[in-house]
Amino acid sequence: MPQQPPGLMQMLEELIAIPSVSSVNPAFDQGNRAVVERLGEWLHGLGFAVEIQPVPGSADKANLIATLGRGEGGLVLAGHTDTVPYDDSGWTSDPFVLSERDGRLYGLGTCDMKSFLGLVVEAVRDLRAEDLKQPLVILATADEESGMTGAKALVEAERRLGRYAVIGEPTGLQPVHLHKGVMMEAIRVRGRSGHSSDPSFGNSALEGMHRILNDILAWRQQVQSRNVDRRFDVPVPTLNLGYIHGGDNPNRICAHCELHIDIRPLPGMNLDELRGLLAQRLPRVLGETGLAVEMESLFPGLPPMETPSGSPIVQVAEQLTGSESRAVAFGTEGPYLRDLGMDVVVLGPGDIAQAHQPDEYLAADRLQPTVDLLRRLIRRFCMDEAEVRHAP
Ligand SMILES: [Zn+2]
Repeated sequence: MPQQPPGLMQMLEELIAIPSVSSVNPAFDQGNRAVVERLGEWLHGLGFAVEIQPVPGSADKANLIATLGRGEGGLVLAGHTDTVPYDDSGWTSDPFVLSERDGRLYGLGTCDMKSFLGLVVEAVRDLRAEDLKQPLVILATADEESGMTGAKALVEAERRLGRYAVIGEPTGLQPVHLHKGVMMEAIRVRGRSGHSSDPSFGNSALEGMHRILNDILAWRQQVQSRNVDRRFDVPVPTLNLGYIHGGDNPNRICAHCELHIDIRPLPGMNLDELRGLLAQRLPRVLGETGLAVEMESLFPGLPPMETPSGSPIVQVAEQLTGSESRAVAFGTEGPYLRDLGMDVVVLGPGDIAQAHQPDEYLAADRLQPTVDLLRRLIRRFCMDEAEVRHAP
C-alpha cells in the first residue's frame, strides 16, 4: 500500500535536506535524483502515475513526470529540483536545514525553488483522478541552474505534457508571461607576436580587437534602435562587454586577444540569428589585416519567452492573483515548455531578491496562499467544464 506523504513542513524539510546543487563547475555539481525520487514516492502515494526520465550525460540527474487523470489538455505544475552552489561562510544557519526565524523559512532552495514542489504536493493531497476532466502533471526537472539539460531532455524526447504550464520560480506570487533570453559568446582574435620595435615583425590581435569592439558597439546601437519592447524595464536588448584579455607584455606584439560578451535578446529575437549576424560581421571588420577571428558560445544560451496575454493561463493567473502579468529580467525553462506546446506562466511564492543568495528564505506567510492558488488553478484547468480547453 503506497504511503501518504508527510505534512507540509516535513516535506519542505526533506526537500531542503537533500543536496542537489548543479553547477557548470564539476567540483560543485551534484545530481538531483534523490529529490525527484522522494517527490515520486509522495506523488505515487497520492495515486499519481510516476515516471522518472533520466537526463542524458549524468546518471545522477533525472526529471520527474507525475500524472493524475488523462486527456489531451491539462495543466502542468513545474519546477526545478536543483539549486545553485552555496557559500557556507555567508549563511547564518546550515543551508540544508530548514530553519524558521522571524516568519521566514531559511534554507538552500526555499525560494528558488524546491519549496514550490512541496507546496504542489500539499495542494494535490486530496485530489482524486475521478474528479479530473483534464490531466494534472507535476514536472520536477534537473539542472535548470546550469545547462538546462533536464528541460532539453524533455524537448528532445518530444514529451507531451499538457496544454498550460505554471512554473513556480520566484515571482512574489505575481504572474509573469515575458522574459528576455540570454547568450554569452567568446570572440577570439589571433595574430602573430613579434618585437614591439618593428610592427612588421608581427600582427597585433589587440588592434584587431579594437576594430571589433568599435563594430560591436555600432551593431548594438543598430539592434537597439530596431528592437524596443516597452513592457520591459530595460526596453531594448542589451549587449555587455564583460571580459577581455589580450597580450602579455608591453614590448611584444599581441598575438591573441579574447572578448566575452553577454546578449539579452527580447522576445521575437532568435539566438542563432544573432550568432549568425556576428559571425558574418566580424571577419569583415578585420578585412585585409590577416588576423583570424573565431566565435564560441560559452553556454548554449536561453531563448526569450513570450506567452500571449490573451492566453487562458495568463488570464486566469491574473484573475486569481489580482495582478497584471508582467515581464522579468531572469530566464526560466519556459521557452522549452513552450516548444512542447504549452502556454506558460511563471508564478511562484519566493521573491527573486532572495534567490542565489546566502540566507535564502521563503516568507512563511506565502505558504498557504500558494497552496490555495494552486488548488484554484487546478480547479480551473483540470476540473471546471467551462474552463477546460483542449489543445488545438
Ligand atoms: Zn530557479
